[in-house]
Amino acid sequence: MHTLRASKYGLAIKKLPPSIIEVIDVLTKAGYEAYIVGGGVRDLILGLNPKDFDAVTNATPAQIKAAFGRRCRIIGRRFELAHVYIGRDLIEVATFRAPPKKEVTSAQGMILRDNNWGTIEQDFVRRDFSINAMYYQPRKDIILDFCHAIDDIKSKTLRFLGQPAKRFEEDPVRMLRTLRFAAKLKFNIAQDIVDVFTPNMAKLLRDISPHRLYDESQKLFTMGQLNQVLPLLIQFDVWKQIFADIPPTINPFIERVARNTDQRIQVGKSINPAFFYAVLLWENFLERTQFYLNKALPPAEARAQAGLDVIKRQCTRTVIPRFTETFIREVWEMQVRLMSPKPQQIESLAGHPRFRAGFDFLYLREKSGDTTTDGMGQWWEEYQHLSRDEKEIVIAKYNRQRSKKRHKSTETIDTQEPLVKDERPRSKFSRRVKTTNVTTDGITTADRHVATQSTSSENIDFKHPILKRKRVQRDLAHVTFGPTQ
Ligand code: ATP
Ligand code: MG
Repeated sequence: MHTLRASKYGLAIKKLPPSIIEVIDVLTKAGYEAYIVGGGVRDLILGLNPKDFDAVTNATPAQIKAAFGRRCRIIGRRFELAHVYIGRDLIEVATFRAPPKKEVTSAQGMILRDNNWGTIEQDFVRRDFSINAMYYQPRKDIILDFCHAIDDIKSKTLRFLGQPAKRFEEDPVRMLRTLRFAAKLKFNIAQDIVDVFTPNMAKLLRDISPHRLYDESQKLFTMGQLNQVLPLLIQFDVWKQIFADIPPTINPFIERVARNTDQRIQVGKSINPAFFYAVLLWENFLERTQFYLNKALPPAEARAQAGLDVIKRQCTRTVIPRFTETFIREVWEMQVRLMSPKPQQIESLAGHPRFRAGFDFLYLREKSGDTTTDGMGQWWEEYQHLSRDEKEIVIAKYNRQRSKKRHKSTETIDTQEPLVKDERPRSKFSRRVKTTNVTTDGITTADRHVATQSTSSENIDFKHPILKRKRVQRDLAHVTFGPTQ
């Protein structure tokens, strides 16, 4: 074991948030050993901004609870931990772990329960990578390095503690962690890890619960190096294990959004991991929509059913929580509305809670070369920056163009299919389209036609009396969209 001077490696109390210092101090005062460990120490040494700080101690969860009282909650069964709340921060405090007992390991070697308390020497070998096993005591200005981790930091190498195959079998999620850290830190994966990281090994991820895989997928999406990690997921056959039916190719849309996501994180903007799921599943959604359209389902129903199917399939690998599902389906549904808005709905669409996400999605589709958006991404981009008067003018212009297009297409299509899904029973006299052309965005030519149907006169502009009527204005203020509302 080497004791390093922390300040020599750029670590200092002033670089730590007060919450983690308080955790260390409270435990120390109560007579326990306490260290900062894991990503916080690693990232500070590398000059990165740590995502969070984790603490480790020789106090058991019950003793941690006694030291922090109501500010502490014990969580987890497989892996018992203390959550300590200091102000707005949440600090995870783990207890030193000894090797797990034999009887809590599955036939495949996976550790099912891991609550065997031990010493710091036993604890460090239980951690995954050497660079995640440095113990920092800020009050003493020391780092305990049991495994030459500092050399691996210098040579930018991801090295497992112990035999890689055994470490993967114990916990297959370490495969995802390997790729995540390789991409995030721009480290090389040690050759002995690469050697055992085979497609067969990746199959072990099937034993991981969809909840845990969803959590891990979110970490992949939000770490700021999404564009680097996606090819690695494909290369190591992990993609297939976590993304059910999504073809393992990074199409221009996925690539564009991944880059955009990383840029947003870099400048401190918020991102919603559900957005990336919506992007990944988009092609599957379009295909499934087509499948239902071929069965002569009305477009809105086809889309709704396709959305359900595609998300249900993905749930067999990573859970998609209800609010995430709603978000994804709303973003997809928004595509239809933004592509062919009724002129009188444009203003309220722009104020819709899902407008931002729906517009970003459309715009990024367009920017990545999807021509089926018909330039509407750019149209909305410009629309948002206009003054009120200018908006009225462009809506009128848009309206005229739609009417012209409508006239061209009325000879070939005749349908009363609503743009917004209508839950009411269909009249047996209403006509159905036998064949419907679907573009790659899942918007049928029938949809486009219907969108323009509302405009009975070719040249309605913002001065048209109907737009001035109080009732119309009131109705527009309450427009709701689609089945996923
Ligand atoms: P980051 O927080 O930046 O994602 P991290 O290394 O801190 O990275 P956490 O998931 O916060 O990752 O875990 C904290 C520490 O717990 C790790 O650094 C590692 O020492 C240990 N650890 C976490 N998950 C595992 C695992 N599956 N196997 C072994 N050790 C793990
Ligand atoms: Mg961490």
